[in-house]
Amino acid sequence: MESLSFYALLLIAIIAGWLLGRLGTSKPARPKASSSDLFQDYFVGLNYLLNDEPDEAIDTFIKALQINSETIETHLALGALLRRRGKVDKAINVHQALLARPHLERDFSNSVRLQLALNYIAAGLLDRAERLLKEVLDDGGEAKWDALRHLITIYQTEKEWENAIACSSQLLKSPQFRKDPTLLGGAAHYCCEIAEQHLHANQYAQARTEIKRAFTFERKSIRGMLLLADIERRAGKYKAAVKELLRVRAAKPEFIAQLLEPLASCHESLGASADFEKLLKAMVLEDSNTEAALMLAKMTSERVGSAEAIALLRKHLTHSSSKSALIELLRLQLDGVDENVASSLKSLLSLVEAQSQGSSEYRCHQCGFETKSFFWMCPSCKQWDKIRPIFGMTNRQTSNAEKA
Ligand SMILES: [Zn+2]
Repeated sequence: MESLSFYALLLIAIIAGWLLGRLGTSKPARPKASSSDLFQDYFVGLNYLLNDEPDEAIDTFIKALQINSETIETHLALGALLRRRGKVDKAINVHQALLARPHLERDFSNSVRLQLALNYIAAGLLDRAERLLKEVLDDGGEAKWDALRHLITIYQTEKEWENAIACSSQLLKSPQFRKDPTLLGGAAHYCCEIAEQHLHANQYAQARTEIKRAFTFERKSIRGMLLLADIERRAGKYKAAVKELLRVRAAKPEFIAQLLEPLASCHESLGASADFEKLLKAMVLEDSNTEAALMLAKMTSERVGSAEAIALLRKHLTHSSSKSALIELLRLQLDGVDENVASSLKSLLSLVEAQSQGSSEYRCHQCGFETKSFFWMCPSCKQWDKIRPIFGMTNRQTSNAEKA
């Protein structure tokens, strides 16, 4: 059941709107119902509300509130309120009734179109929303900026990346939005989406062009750098690939986990394993990165034995609370200890392993959505670049970047 406070607010909004409509119009466009009829409607509505029949209450209240020039804003707000409460069909009715009014002022007409478009987006009727938003855009008034933003939402959902870029570019021409990081970051991702399509089709030159375009929107686009590194690696240009990957590390150390596998592969192809080990040490020391520590421990253990690897992980755990580092340390320590100690270590290992299983590795900083996989766009709130590794006593590390 919906909270009573929502309906109380609704009631107040409608009564205020009704009073405005009643007191503010000396020459009504159409004959008004008598005030006793209107009060009758309110009492009927209130009765529905008190009897937990909110849908009937809303219908009665809306019927009671005549649309005239003084109540248009109330209707607009009422529709938006209904949409936010998930009553999209009723919101559509309210806004459609407004739009059907003859001689609606230009600004109001655009405001209603925007609201109606948002209702359609909420209902998944994207074609209808797009048509309305294009009408607002063609009108050229101030509402066009909002229309462009909503069109971007639609094109993102439909994966129409070129259209999303075109709308972003129009918005970015305005001095008001020229430096908007959300717009710039979004546009860079749309280019990267197109670049990935080219990569899947092995069209490397076209992919490079798109990545270059991404960099025009966001000079340090992490996704752009990762894609470029991938192209260089596929082309056998390992040094160039390493250079791009190190640019990512410098810009966003929290992405180090994603760099390790390609860095290892490039260094192997270059026959430069000593350089890679040096790089891993730097990532452990300077970035407190757990994945780098784990990789380094594995290499050290294979090369010189487990004692050094154990020392390395112990040191890492003194300043980084990481379950995966602890699990690896316990595994390494199981070798060569007497049976009793081994039994205790195994129990502890099972406990930590059980705790780390199923835990999320990433969280959206915008909406709190948690996931085991990485996404550039949060599947829940649809924002770009908000998904980050979860730090602390998790499978991941506490990086310097996160502490800062
Ligand atoms: Zn989110």
